[in-house]
Amino acid sequence: MKACIKTENGKVEMMDIPIPEPGSGEIVVKMSMCTVCGSDMHFLDEFANEMLAFAFPGCVRPEGLPMGHEAVGTVHAVGEGVKKFAEGERVISSCLIGCGVCHECVSVDHSQCSGGGRVLFGCQAEYYTIPFADQNTTKVPDSVSDEHAILASDIMSTGFGAIERGEARLGSSVAIFAQGPVGLMATAGARALGCGLIIGVDTMDDRLEVSKKFGANVTINAKDEDAVTKIMALTGGGVDVAVEAVGTQATFEAATRAVRRGGVVSSVGVYGLTPQLSMPTMAPSFLHRKVVTTLCPSGADRMEYLVRLLEYGDLNLEPLFTHKMKLDEMGKAYDLFRDKTDGVLKIAITP
Ligand SMILES: [Zn+2]
Ligand SMILES: [Zn+2]
Repeated sequence: MKACIKTENGKVEMMDIPIPEPGSGEIVVKMSMCTVCGSDMHFLDEFANEMLAFAFPGCVRPEGLPMGHEAVGTVHAVGEGVKKFAEGERVISSCLIGCGVCHECVSVDHSQCSGGGRVLFGCQAEYYTIPFADQNTTKVPDSVSDEHAILASDIMSTGFGAIERGEARLGSSVAIFAQGPVGLMATAGARALGCGLIIGVDTMDDRLEVSKKFGANVTINAKDEDAVTKIMALTGGGVDVAVEAVGTQATFEAATRAVRRGGVVSSVGVYGLTPQLSMPTMAPSFLHRKVVTTLCPSGADRMEYLVRLLEYGDLNLEPLFTHKMKLDEMGKAYDLFRDKTDGVLKIAITP
């Protein structure tokens, strides 16, 4: 089968490798659509394969790292002990796999698994393996599109999770710093939940246009004006929830300054190799605020809730997919995603 493999930092190659066989508790899925994500860029450009082999035992092949963790497809083969799935069923898995039985899976979230969980590598291929399938996978009804299903596997869960974990409620004021794919999902999540004033902040005008489509009432181009000053003027003292959705010191700091007394800073950006974040301690940005960080809420139960929301919740998140490509074009897809040109947000990649 064809698979996208990272051979060295910054470089992927399409390779012919054997179709995987499912081990105990695993299913093998025939991919119908996959995509590139900001996290893929961190794995591709920042972390050497040797380091990833240490962090994710068993995931790096001799030829390199099988790329991709966001995909949808149909079950091709079912391993011993899997109870919930049969061949031919359309499924998604959360992009972070949990064992389902450790303390973190049971009490915290599958994304924090300490019992063998990991990133679901290898989805940018004709076939991929889902470990702990019963604990992380859900069926997808025909009425939910491939595009929507893929979003549930990662960035919808992350972006909507930023709003949920930020304790936003009906009527809350929310500012979202950065309107890339995850930030736009936070904007859509805030609107879906019934928040009041939603403010989208970015430095790219085309992304701010999409932000309005996804529910922002006000957009601010941080290149043209100071976002915090404008948010303070609009809200008379800050927003209830300020979301950081890209992973930089500047946006994190802006979020801490834009949140009202007693409000929540909700951080879902991936800081990659950024070794440390700082928060201003001068009032009013520090005193009596809550800071919450979220990775990507994961596991079968989370997937079921998101799929139900996509099935019945009257959401249209498909405008996030700005480009279509074929699996053979993964190198081009990564270049486009890295360069952020041509208005790219998400790329629908089919076999
Ligand atoms: Zn992702
Ligand atoms: Zn676990």
